[in-house]
Amino acid sequence: MFNKILIANRGEIACRVIKTARKLGIATVAVYSDADANALHVAMADEAVHIGGAPSRESYLVIERVIEAARKTGAEAIHPGYGFLSENSEFCRACDAAGIVFIGPPVGAIEAMGSKSAAKRIMEEADVPLVPGYHGEDQDPALLKKAADDMGYPVLLKATAGGGGKGMRQVWSAAEFDEGLAAAKREAMNGFGDDRMLVEKYLTKPRHVEIQVFCDGHGNGVFLAERDCSVQRRHQKVIEEAPAPGVDPALRTRMGEAALQAAKAINYVGAGTVEFLLDEDGSFYFMEMNTRLQVEHPVTEMITGQDLVEWQLRVAYGETLPLTQEQVQIKGHAFEARIYAEDPANDFLPVTGTLSFLEPPEESRHVRVDTGVLQGDEVSVFYDPMIAKLIVWDEDRDAALRRLGKALSEYRISGMTTNVDFLYNLATCEPFKAAELDTGFIGKHHDKIFHDGEQDVAAGATLAALYLVLRRAADARHGSAAAHDPYSPWNQSNAWRLNEPHVHLFELELQGQHFPVVVEQLGQGSGISYNITVAGKTVRAQGKLAGSDLYADIDGYRSRATVAEHDGVYSLYTQESAQQFSQVTADLGAEDAGSGDAALCAPMNGTIVTLLVEPGSEVKKDAALLVMEAMKMEHTIRAPADGTVKAFYYAAGELVEGGADLLDFEPAAD
Ligand code: ADP
Repeated sequence: MFNKILIANRGEIACRVIKTARKLGIATVAVYSDADANALHVAMADEAVHIGGAPSRESYLVIERVIEAARKTGAEAIHPGYGFLSENSEFCRACDAAGIVFIGPPVGAIEAMGSKSAAKRIMEEADVPLVPGYHGEDQDPALLKKAADDMGYPVLLKATAGGGGKGMRQVWSAAEFDEGLAAAKREAMNGFGDDRMLVEKYLTKPRHVEIQVFCDGHGNGVFLAERDCSVQRRHQKVIEEAPAPGVDPALRTRMGEAALQAAKAINYVGAGTVEFLLDEDGSFYFMEMNTRLQVEHPVTEMITGQDLVEWQLRVAYGETLPLTQEQVQIKGHAFEARIYAEDPANDFLPVTGTLSFLEPPEESRHVRVDTGVLQGDEVSVFYDPMIAKLIVWDEDRDAALRRLGKALSEYRISGMTTNVDFLYNLATCEPFKAAELDTGFIGKHHDKIFHDGEQDVAAGATLAALYLVLRRAADARHGSAAAHDPYSPWNQSNAWRLNEPHVHLFELELQGQHFPVVVEQLGQGSGISYNITVAGKTVRAQGKLAGSDLYADIDGYRSRATVAEHDGVYSLYTQESAQQFSQVTADLGAEDAGSGDAALCAPMNGTIVTLLVEPGSEVKKDAALLVMEAMKMEHTIRAPADGTVKAFYYAAGELVEGGADLLDFEPAAD
């Protein structure tokens, strides 16, 4: 076996490869860009080489730098991961020239599959079923249009050099063809510098089912079952599963054999994936072959009990495949959910930010988290916004799906918008449970996946209110222990003061909505509970804090939530969702009102009822200064200390906004 390998990648896949290398006793070399100096893959590797600037074209895509790093460190082989240089035949050649093993297929196989249309021609000759369409060299627009007219609409235009869904356009009628072609060509030219197109019959309700194949250099080849990757957004996978629901052993064998035929047609060696569209009637059509390890390979590992990176390393070293076709067994069911920094509500646009809080679910025999980031890391504009892959396994689909829902509900990320809630809604919706899969799944079940969550928001506001009250009480306990004057009312946490005793009023902003909150404290000491009124509904609440966990009892319903603070904004994670909240207004009853200012702000939107002293008056601490009304309750604003009321900013009868300064108060000099 190799003594040392270099991983020409970053993030989760680099970490994933390093784990297997370690298991096999192989030393590892990481490469990194300026942006990744402190990245997890660098920390995990035995050695690491800086290869350039943050943009990948200045580092991870620079063939000479990667080869030089391997030379310098004496790495005998390079694992390219996926993306970056993994399907770059020039890189494969450069490895050969440098006497370094490329852990992947031979250059000829990469080239054969590099163009979607050339790949289709090869597959046609090998009798692998193809989606009906045109994949010829002649790119005359009239010819392309005629091909579309002949096969009938809808059709799909695809960039032959395409990938990642770029340069792809559906065309629904002859009238739309020219415009669709122009748009697809523009996108392809921008993305790949090549605007050649192929035209395919657009299947309206297909599933994306792909076969994992593996071949060694001794003429052996096996398929390791299939993965269903039908759940896609923007033609890109979001949740994958294995085996594919409804694919029986007979269909599996037919697809597997077709895939192996495809691999053999190009003298394939190593891990590859043959992607098919599976039509409702059980017909399947070759789409493309990916000549590398796929992002979603873990679901295959979970159901076969194999380590595909280990297989890659063995095959690259010249060994035979670890198993024969008969020995490949599948057991149970696995899902993978891709956790992205992206905004599902905004067309899944990638977002960036710092992972200010990151708590993945606990790993076990059933739950695996493949990631390349730690709390505090950046998701930057430079690379793919994938944060992690969450993989679950269980004996059957239902059990595995329950695990997926639970693990997603435990995934806690702050600092940026993620798709975790979206994935949770998706994984727990009825059509997904019923495996009603096709590539239009997300669009078709949009309302179920993007439900508005009105209910959740009010419930979230109640939990948020409970959290703030408990946090404040905890902070005050610390404060009173530490303060000079343990008897000072400012350092007490047993009851609220200044205005209505035991009543706490503030305003919360949660998910962009404002909620006036009234908290009434009941009891003292360990028996403390609260009546919390939010959005007109009062509940009896109790709770305790342990680290970032909130244990809540709301009207007898107990649950655990997690709250993480970052820059004055809190993230509240419950089983169903992650919500952002903050406290909008200062709190009249707050312990920190001792600063004076906070006590002189309006606790929420309301009306000034009356001013109780003349401007310029000297007053004693706790003297009543003005009365305002909010939420049908009167609140008396009192002097936070001895001092002078210099001016009132509002007159009786005026409306004030929550948080507004009410008066100018100057505390007396000591
Ligand atoms: P890319 O390489 O850009 O990811 P693919 O050829 O792999 O593009 O196709 C991506 C997805 O687009 C497929 O998984 C499928 O959902 C959809 N798709 C591709 N070809 C067709 C087709 N002929 N009919 C319907 N959907 C298709």
